[in-house]
Amino acid sequence: ESALDPQTRQLTRERAVLGPAYRLFYRKPVHLVRGRGSHLWDADGVEYLDVYNNVASVGHCHPRVVEAITRQASMLNTHTRYLHENVLHYAEDILSTMPDEVNRIMFQCTGSEANDLAIRVAQSYTGGEGIIVTHEAYHGNSALTSKLSPALGTAQTLGLKMRMIPTPDTYRVDIDGQIANQCSPEVFGGWMADQLAQAVADMKRHGIKFAAFLADSIFSSDGVYPTPTGYLKPVIDKVHELGGVFIADEVQPGFTRTGDAFWGFQRHGVVPDLVTSGKPMANGLPTSLMAARAEVLEPFASSIPYFNTFGGNPVCMAAAQATLDVMRDEDTMGNAKKVGAVFMKALKEFQATHGCIGDLRGAGLYIACEIVKPGSKDPDQRKALDILESLRSNRVLTSVCGRYGNILKLRPPLVFSEDDVDWFSTAFEKTLKECGE
Ligand code: PMP
Repeated sequence: ESALDPQTRQLTRERAVLGPAYRLFYRKPVHLVRGRGSHLWDADGVEYLDVYNNVASVGHCHPRVVEAITRQASMLNTHTRYLHENVLHYAEDILSTMPDEVNRIMFQCTGSEANDLAIRVAQSYTGGEGIIVTHEAYHGNSALTSKLSPALGTAQTLGLKMRMIPTPDTYRVDIDGQIANQCSPEVFGGWMADQLAQAVADMKRHGIKFAAFLADSIFSSDGVYPTPTGYLKPVIDKVHELGGVFIADEVQPGFTRTGDAFWGFQRHGVVPDLVTSGKPMANGLPTSLMAARAEVLEPFASSIPYFNTFGGNPVCMAAAQATLDVMRDEDTMGNAKKVGAVFMKALKEFQATHGCIGDLRGAGLYIACEIVKPGSKDPDQRKALDILESLRSNRVLTSVCGRYGNILKLRPPLVFSEDDVDWFSTAFEKTLKECGE
């Protein structure tokens, strides 16, 4: 065994001890040891451009976040059954970024837990059980949220009293002879609201009371559909008209990523009843939140005690606070808007000369590049995966999403720079050539 190269040895060890449900990225997995900003280094010292990781939202190992964690960890780490300034300060600060109506907050460790809690709160408030999600949604890995995550292939429409509505695929959905991305937000949103009303009617026929629409407003695992801004407004109006609540899953669009709002739902001009988030919140520490309108939270909170051992602990809150401070001080929203536009422009130039790039869409530093068979909208997953592997060998890390796995998901840390866009473009040009484009 000692004759094996280090990576093969590592893979053998991994297979021996880690559960087989884990999936590594890439045919030749990457062994990372260090990160800074939007750059990563592997065990051989090779430097990569990170165009994928939204958890390191203000950049890998941001010194202010590292310092805040270190300082608090050397002072005290405990839980929310004692008073602590960090959790109160952060709660007030983060709530100030939300609409006035959303005025209570609870902390967890993962997005799954936050969504799990939000669903229980929604069911308690409405007295209903039925949950609606989109066709390729991902909302978590708990017993409850995994069944609300069709992207996993584990959705259970009957057992769980859930229904799926179509992905808001602005590239393909045809509304009375017009492609959705050419429709107004009212028309496209109206179409989506009709889908939702039909799902609620179906629930009713089966004796299920509608409780909530749970949606990630950028529809990331569905394939990234951020525009036309405002299209969720008619949908959320319909949710309320039909007696349900809207849970805005902000794991992906939240925390300034879209470049034009702090939260994704704000781009749609809606006020959610519940808000959940996690990933980008504490730059890598396991921290998540569930915020709610006080009256929505009330029936649950007055009947069921809630304790989360690690949620809201002083070290995680220090990391979350430092992350939020950096977002403000370094204007990550402005950077996402500015560099996102430069990135999109560069991609459009590739699209003009490469038929395999069917559609480009995005908001700020969240861009989808749809790989299709030239001259059509047929998804080309094989080509997308070849591009992914070739980008990896050209030292750019990213991934794919969407129903057909043919959409490059370009979602770098929020400190991504114009130089990083140049690095990407150089690698992408080489990659497209290598992939026969
Ligand atoms: N919601 C969305 C939209 C997500 O993308 C994810 C994670 N990919 C989750 C929830 C679950 O978060 P976590 O992995 O922290 O449980």
